[in-house]
Amino acid sequence: MSSPDLADADRQAVLEVLNTPSLSMGPRIMEFEQAFCDFSGRKHAMGVSSGTTGLHLCVRAAGIEPGDYVITTPFSFVASANVILFENAVPVFVDVDARTGNIDPGLVAEAARDLVIGGEKAQEWLPRKGSEPNRSLKAILPVDVFGQPSDLDPIRKVAQKYGLKVIEDSCEALGAEYKGRKVGTLGDYGVYAFYPNKQITTGEGGVIVTDDDQAADFMRALRNQGRAVGDTWLQHTYLGYNYRLDEMSAALGTAQMARLDELLNKREQVAAWYTERLAEMPEVETPSVEPFTTHMSWFVYVALFNKSVDRNGLANALEARGVPVRPYFAPIHLQPYMIKRFGYRPGDFPVTEDLGSRGLALPFSGVMSRAQVEHVCQTLRAVLRGR
Ligand SMILES: *Cc1c(COP(=O)(O)O)cnc(C)c1O
Repeated sequence: MSSPDLADADRQAVLEVLNTPSLSMGPRIMEFEQAFCDFSGRKHAMGVSSGTTGLHLCVRAAGIEPGDYVITTPFSFVASANVILFENAVPVFVDVDARTGNIDPGLVAEAARDLVIGGEKAQEWLPRKGSEPNRSLKAILPVDVFGQPSDLDPIRKVAQKYGLKVIEDSCEALGAEYKGRKVGTLGDYGVYAFYPNKQITTGEGGVIVTDDDQAADFMRALRNQGRAVGDTWLQHTYLGYNYRLDEMSAALGTAQMARLDELLNKREQVAAWYTERLAEMPEVETPSVEPFTTHMSWFVYVALFNKSVDRNGLANALEARGVPVRPYFAPIHLQPYMIKRFGYRPGDFPVTEDLGSRGLALPFSGVMSRAQVEHVCQTLRAVLRGR
C-alpha cells in the first residue's frame, strides 16, 4: 500500500547514533524538536513515541476528565477517538463534510451550543448509552483527514465562544496549510505522526506542538514518567507514562524533516498522476481540494466510487490482480467496541457511513513511479469494465 522514502542521509543519521552511547534522552531529540519549532513557528515541540501517545498527552493537558464531553469526528483513524476514551471521557461525534471528510463546522457549532445549555437538546448529540447528561464540554478534536486541513476558523470561533480547547489531530497532514497557515498550529495543541506510511517517518513516533508554556511543561513531565521540572530520576510529581521518542528515531526524523519539501512534492506528483487518469473514469470521484486548502499534503489517495459500483467486490478483484487497496475509513462509531459501549447503529452518521462505504485507498507513496500509477489505473479500468 505504501513505502517510506528513505535516502542514504537518513540511514547514515541512524547509524551515527548507534556509534554513540546515547540511545535515549540525548541531543538528537532536542535537534528534532528544534526542527519542529522552526517548521511550525510554535514555542514548544515535544517528540513522543507515537501520534496516539501525543494526542493522549494533549487530552491530559486540556484537563479532560472522566465523563467530560469532547466533540470529534467518526470519520478518522480510531486513535483520535480512543485518546478521549483513555481518560473515560465521552467522544461526542458529529458528522462530516461530504466533500472533504472533515468534521462539519456547522454541526460543531450546533452541538457545542446544545451541550453547553444541557437538557433535552444536549441529549440528542449524546450516544444512546455510555454517557451521563449535563457533564461539561471541554474540547473539540478536529482531524485533518487524508492530508487536507479541517475548516478551522469557524471551529476556533466556537471554541472561543464556549471556552473550549482545540486539539488538532494533524497526524495525516504534516505540511498542509489552511489559508496560508500550517496545520497543527491552528488550535491550542497540534499533533503530527510518523508511522512509516506518513509523510515523514521515524519508524514509530510523533510530535506535539503548542505555544502554551504550562501545558508544555506538563506534557514533558507526563511523557517522562511524571517527572516535573526539578524532579530527580526517582521523583514523580504526576502519574505519567513512558511516551519518549528514542535517539535513533529522532535522528531519522531530523534527517527526514530536512527533506520535507522534496517528500511532499513527490507525493503531490503521484497524486496528480492518479487524478489525471481517474478523472477519465465516470464511476470515480477524485479527492476534492477546498479553496481554503492553500497547501494539500497528500497522505493517502482515496478514490470514491459511484453507488452503482460494488466497492468490496472491486477491492477483492484488485487484490486478486496484485493491486493492494483498502476501504477507507471504516467509521469509528461502528467498530465493535464502540457499538458495545455507546450503542451506535448504522445510520447514526450518514455522511461518514456513505464515504466509508464508497472509498478505496489506492497504493500510494512518494516513491511510486508513473508506470506503477498507470498499472494501478489500468487494472482498475479493466475490473470496472468487467474484464
Ligand atoms: C496515524 C494517525 C494517528 C497516530 O497514529 P500512530 O500510529 O499512533 O502514530 C492519529 N490520528 C490519525 C487520524 C492518524 O491517521
